[in-house]
Amino acid sequence: MMKKDSRGTLPQTLDPSDWQDLRAQGHRMLDDMLDYLEHIRERPVWQPIPPEVRASFHEALPRKPSDLATVHDTFMRDILPFAVGNAHPGFMGWVHGGGTPVGMLAEMLAAGLNANLGGRDQIPIEVERQVLHWVRELFGFPESASGLFVTGSSMANLIAVLVARTAALGAGVRQQGVAAGGKRLVAYTSAGAHSCIAQAMDIAGLGTDALRIIPANAHFQMDVAALARAIATDRGAGLTPFLVAGTAGTVDVGAIDHLAALAEIAAREKLWFHVDGAFGALGMLSAEIAPYLAGIERADSIAFDFHKWGQVPYDAGFVLVRDGELHRDTFASPSAYLRRESRGMAAGSPWPCDFGPDLSRGFRALKAWFTIKVYGTEKMGEVISSTCALAQYLKRRIDETPELELLAPVALNIVCFRYRCEDADRVNADIVVAVQESGIAAPSTTTINGKLAIRAAIVNHRTDSSDIDALIRATVAFGEAYSPKR
Ligand SMILES: *Cc1c(COP(=O)(O)O)cnc(C)c1O
Repeated sequence: MMKKDSRGTLPQTLDPSDWQDLRAQGHRMLDDMLDYLEHIRERPVWQPIPPEVRASFHEALPRKPSDLATVHDTFMRDILPFAVGNAHPGFMGWVHGGGTPVGMLAEMLAAGLNANLGGRDQIPIEVERQVLHWVRELFGFPESASGLFVTGSSMANLIAVLVARTAALGAGVRQQGVAAGGKRLVAYTSAGAHSCIAQAMDIAGLGTDALRIIPANAHFQMDVAALARAIATDRGAGLTPFLVAGTAGTVDVGAIDHLAALAEIAAREKLWFHVDGAFGALGMLSAEIAPYLAGIERADSIAFDFHKWGQVPYDAGFVLVRDGELHRDTFASPSAYLRRESRGMAAGSPWPCDFGPDLSRGFRALKAWFTIKVYGTEKMGEVISSTCALAQYLKRRIDETPELELLAPVALNIVCFRYRCEDADRVNADIVVAVQESGIAAPSTTTINGKLAIRAAIVNHRTDSSDIDALIRATVAFGEAYSPKR
């Protein structure tokens, strides 16, 4: 029986009446997740969702309580087996991180603390600032640079475009809008850039037509001479170039733009130099990869994800801005309920909410802080190097296998190849679906120079050469089964 309180009513708390029970159930749940991670290799990477499982998520709003153990059983039976599989070593479909047990445990602590990192004087914000400090150090940015955890690089790129817009038009753009000054801003990115750069132009009110897509060279990097020509043409037409968005690690093939050359042009033309380093920027942690990122230290802003090569659980994007003041001028607002003080809980200004559109914010910083502290950046860098070494191993296996051909140079950790045969686009699309459905591996497809390619992005720290061998075996076997017989 629950005890009535002094008003004579039952307390309406959501805490358990029996903490012992909850504790035992919590330990079982923790064990289930640790078992899952320990034995993940024994599972299929992915499996199609049975229709009855999908249908079970169409139930009516539950009015009555259910036992936690029962709901957890449902999770184990109907949710856990049917995720996309990026924690699995055979997952190579997209640039997704694998996550770690340490990150998982840190997420639990963050959820228990339930901190809101919008602002106020609290140590969780110092943890976020600590990570910002490390990020500045990693990229050679000054102490005056600002930064923020966000959902992912899509949001980080948007924030960077908005700060670049402030740099070009002044903070008055926030009141007057982009049309007021009569300037027509134009931005530049490469054909290999992620679609979220165009989306950021759209959301920033500048329009996707104002984004010039500069062709790529044979290494899938932005063609620097074409960039210079495009800027000159736009200036000649009375437009206002304001932003160059380079990419460090394109999604298709993992190409890194010639960042130093882009920095040079941006400096000469007085443009904002942004780097979308969603997955590639953390290559700075790897002694082998860092040299390819030369020039990133000259960026005005960098977007990247801890949840890709950094292996921090989703979601954990980050935006770093060299000019912290301009960054704040782009977002800070003077609401009375967000009043700052020099003492008490409303101290510690500026707050994270002054640097982005979010007011309430979770404690994403904790899982990144734990990951960096526990593994250390050397180990994280070795994991990154190892995914690139595996990509080279996959490339060698393709070169040795007469049935397969490579479709793009392997700069980092992404390999694009295909099974040689007639009607190759159709056959390779079928191969990829068959490999995914077999649960052996999870590659994806992309288009390289007009040809459909099988794309393997090796991001997960759990992937090893046996996973590469399995991918090769499965590709050749399904290729034989599906190619037109001569
Ligand atoms: C993944 C990726 C993005 C998008 O990042 P999200 O974290 O998914 O929002 C942007 N650009 C590149 C190059 C990416 O690889």
